[in-house]
Amino acid sequence: LRCKSPVRDSANVKVAVRVRPLIAEDAEVSCLLSMAGQDTFLSPDPTSTRQQEKRSFTFDKSFWSASKDSNFASQEDVYELFGKEFLDHSLEGYNTCIFAYGQTGSGKSYTMMGTESEPGIIPQLCSDLFERIEQLQGISSVSVRASFCEIYNEQVRDLLSNAKTSTNLKIRENSSREPYVEGLSEFTVKNVAQVLKYLKQGNAIRATASTNMNSHSSRSHAVFSLEIRQLTYEDGGTEEKRSLLRLVDLAGSERTNATGATGQRLREGSNINKSLVTLGRVISALASDRRSTLQVIPYRESVLTRLLQDSLGGNSKTAMIACISPTNYEQTLSTLRYAVQAK
Ligand code: ADP
Repeated sequence: LRCKSPVRDSANVKVAVRVRPLIAEDAEVSCLLSMAGQDTFLSPDPTSTRQQEKRSFTFDKSFWSASKDSNFASQEDVYELFGKEFLDHSLEGYNTCIFAYGQTGSGKSYTMMGTESEPGIIPQLCSDLFERIEQLQGISSVSVRASFCEIYNEQVRDLLSNAKTSTNLKIRENSSREPYVEGLSEFTVKNVAQVLKYLKQGNAIRATASTNMNSHSSRSHAVFSLEIRQLTYEDGGTEEKRSLLRLVDLAGSERTNATGATGQRLREGSNINKSLVTLGRVISALASDRRSTLQVIPYRESVLTRLLQDSLGGNSKTAMIACISPTNYEQTLSTLRYAVQAK
């Protein structure tokens, strides 16, 4: 992984990689990740008998969190790269979207949610958001509404409602041709604690879909959205700005190349594949410098990209954090290839 330096701040699409540390649960370590200065390399474990090559990749940024040395990137460092810039963009009235991509167990939810003592992007961003809203008092009135849904098997499910009718919601377009999920619950939030309460509630509902939370959450995309409405009073008139901030924990990327699956698993696998492949193509098309105005961006080819269409492209800012762990050479290579292609 070779960092482009400095990060192109003006770019509307950013792709970063984060290497997590080894944890007690790691059974097999089949690759080595190393970093020298700004370069990080993927090599096969020298004890492995398989013939695999050493590789290097280039991204906007790579975060080394695998060991607590001088390269170590903390949760704050990861947040720093996008957080303030994305928040500024949101408060200016533009949409933003942050994805975590990677195989199950690679650190997606640690990066997005984190833990109580090491909060991830979502809690840090919300805490900054409400601080900024406090500072805007007297100049603007700002309201924030939260919603939380998952996409499983190309169906949208409300994670903040227990109603039976909330499992196969339709995506519609409003009169401005912006997509929205019909019937999705939305709640006003006034502080970080309320945001975290809804996240917890949503994750609990998500878990009821399966006896095994981990296996279910690894097969669905979780989309947490904040709608920010800002009313500013100026020269006797009012100006309204509205923006959407989307925070997405994607399904485990290992499903994209699951082999030998049949029936339900095969359908699931190919639906996850469809969403992730389409997302990669959309981001790649948006990031391409050679992009022509005639190029068709394939938003409509998956539910995930249809739903996020207004947060991808145009004036929106998009970031993808590809999470990797040293446990699986093939999966790590596949994540790095996906992320490189997205750029
Ligand atoms: P995923 O959401 O991709 O399935 P998790 O975020 O649950 O993966 O991470 C798997 C495990 O690794 C968790 O126990 C998590 O706390 C730990 N972990 C992941 N990334 C880091 C990191 N950067 N630093 C410390 N622990 C991490």
